[in-house]
Amino acid sequence: MRILLVEDDNMIGAAVSVALKDAAYAVDWVKDGITAVGVLKNGEHQAVLLDLGLPGRDGLEVLRRLRLDGNTIPVIVITARDGVKDRIEGLDFGADDYLVKPFDINELLARLRAVIRRQGGQAAPLLGNGRVTLDPANHRAQCGDTAVILSAREFALLHALLLRPGAILARAELEERIYGWNEEVESNAVDFLIHGIRKKLGADAIKNVRGAGWMVEKSA
Ligand code: CA
Repeated sequence: MRILLVEDDNMIGAAVSVALKDAAYAVDWVKDGITAVGVLKNGEHQAVLLDLGLPGRDGLEVLRRLRLDGNTIPVIVITARDGVKDRIEGLDFGADDYLVKPFDINELLARLRAVIRRQGGQAAPLLGNGRVTLDPANHRAQCGDTAVILSAREFALLHALLLRPGAILARAELEERIYGWNEEVESNAVDFLIHGIRKKLGADAIKNVRGAGWMVEKSA
């Protein structure tokens, strides 16, 4: 799961980046609105954390542009503006949620999980396909009687697959969801992670579709 963080405050941006990475998200961080609009055109990210007071182009302007372009990516606005009017404006401009600074990082993570699962069409907190279940709040995965805690990247990979059971994700698509711009990706990293997950949950937890990629089966 790859997040775009748009924040011009270095201290807040660094703290949020670290917390997101610790929670197994890949994070790309930009510091102004114009760069954010450009980056979001690439469709690499699954959610946006958007500050409102930004140099170049205001966060509300970024949000308006995004929705005018038909982009439905989940957006959580994070801002020091706590006036009711600002909050209403943010939501009316197409934000999915709103957090006022200073905020508790755990609340941010919980809100992020909520907007991401709703984007995937799921209201329930657990992801699953009838065989494997995954709890994004604690990275606990279960397959039959076997319950394990996945590593951050194993979680990120299984999460990407379980958001769309039945869909095949190619190596490049998985890498894109697991790694940010400035992270080195080793050529066999995905195989290594798949191997680790299968070892923990059983070989049939993830299906290899030869030449195409990997999937988790859709429940019958
Ligand atoms: Ca700011």
